[in-house]
Amino acid sequence: MNNVINYCKNFIKSSLDISVKDEDSKRCLSLSETCSFTSGAGEETSEQQQQQQQGPCSVSPPPALWTRDNSRSQSSFMGKDPDQEASASAGVGAGQTLPEKVRIVEVGPRDGLQNEKTIVPTEKKIHFIDMLSESGLPVIEATSFVSPKWVPQMADQVEVMKGICRKPGVSYPVLAPNLKGFQAAVSAGASEVAIFGAASELFSQKNINCSVDESLQRFDEVMKAAKEAGVPVRGYVSCVLGCPYEGKVAPEKVAHVAKRLYSMGCYEISLGDTIGVGTPGNMAEMLEAVSREVPVGALAVHCHDTYGQALANILVALQMGVSVVDSSVAGLGGCPYAQGAAGNVATEDVVYMLHGLGIQTGVDLSKLMDAGAFICRTLNRRTSSKVAQATCKL
Ligand SMILES: [Zn+2]
Repeated sequence: MNNVINYCKNFIKSSLDISVKDEDSKRCLSLSETCSFTSGAGEETSEQQQQQQQGPCSVSPPPALWTRDNSRSQSSFMGKDPDQEASASAGVGAGQTLPEKVRIVEVGPRDGLQNEKTIVPTEKKIHFIDMLSESGLPVIEATSFVSPKWVPQMADQVEVMKGICRKPGVSYPVLAPNLKGFQAAVSAGASEVAIFGAASELFSQKNINCSVDESLQRFDEVMKAAKEAGVPVRGYVSCVLGCPYEGKVAPEKVAHVAKRLYSMGCYEISLGDTIGVGTPGNMAEMLEAVSREVPVGALAVHCHDTYGQALANILVALQMGVSVVDSSVAGLGGCPYAQGAAGNVATEDVVYMLHGLGIQTGVDLSKLMDAGAFICRTLNRRTSSKVAQATCKL
């Protein structure tokens, strides 16, 4: 056993250049004991308004199997013949330069927790966010200013914003779906907000009874108020690689919504594979279309790991010039309407991959895993991070 633990320490230390202390071994053992619970799926509801209020990552069930009919066929990648396809695929990767630094946007406290059915006490949320701050993460999406009626997990948004210890240099954006939410957020001390739009027309029609364009118009007053208050706004586009109703979503449609949000004044557009069905092929195709309309430096990717493609999709995005990645510690979250669906890609796994590629994140993986262990104990669930699981097993 000791030999195995020493191997673990040496391997992590040498590959990640982080300090693995004795406490880490204890934490591993502790995690083995405390994380042996199955993840609870979020509460299911058919209320359309809840989906509207929850924002990105709140969707109806994807098909049981994402068939080739629904996905962008790899053989039609870029619309070229197979020979061209091979060279195009290789060109996406091998010849491209990876960014030196990546900014990670931690979405666990908002996107993650809102899909967890266990209500986390306010003081635990505050401690969780403070631990994330200490890990070196540059951006932590803290909460959401939505109606507690629709998202009970976020009912303590004011207390959370007032209770967290704001570390200099760290940004704590919040979701603000309407003007009322924006005003409450600013009153509570928020210095950055996020809004969202769907790339899928059918998703928009079925869930909020209006077109995508009409839904974006509803953010006009938020954008106007944010501009007057000097508050930066981040824009989310959901369902960029697939929709539970439409199946495949045209890259041009994603580009259109991303351009609208960027034109409205969003400083950054986060492209969300909300149901986690994308593959590197259609991620590349979508990014090509979007980057024709929005500078790649203003793009972020937000991947879910439902089909185990998240890290591969992120790598393709990095190779195409994206240097901002959303993720959720311990892989918190998931789709409340799809049993067994994985949540957001785990921040620990993203950091492990990035450090392995020699890309700087500023994140201390050991402290990050401490935060993941803390929230898993609080939620009584097992971590979804492969890196944390691998460490736990030893
Ligand atoms: Zn998400």
